[in-house]
Amino acid sequence: MKIALIAHDKKKNDIIELAKKYKDVLANHELYATGTTGTLIMGETGLSIFRMKSGPLGGDQQIGAMLADGNMDLVIFLRDPLTAQPHEPDVSALLRLCDVQKIPLATNEKSATVMLEAMKNKVYFAM
Ligand code: PGA
Repeated sequence: MKIALIAHDKKKNDIIELAKKYKDVLANHELYATGTTGTLIMGETGLSIFRMKSGPLGGDQQIGAMLADGNMDLVIFLRDPLTAQPHEPDVSALLRLCDVQKIPLATNEKSATVMLEAMKNKVYFAM
């Protein structure tokens, strides 16, 4: 599957911890990320990740374009709901496209954990 990993700045540590915990699961998939998130996860885990531009510089839109083309299978986007983001329109567009395309989307750590556990146990994504 093609999986997108994105995290706002205050959620970067959380996505790194998730990526470390589920490294073996993620390693079996084609990974994409916004620039800074991808660089950090690669540095901490050694996972191979195709990096887009940084989110505020268009990276969310690049992932959105993949979604629009039907080229993304799952999105983990750990959002910071307590901080205003300069690129909020891009974030909203990405989330909307997940719903347009009916792509599984996790926007917080616990939702992402449910998805990654399901992948680990092959109970959902075998469909
Ligand atoms: P970043 O972008 O990974 O480049 O920080 C994430 C975002 O804020 O959309």
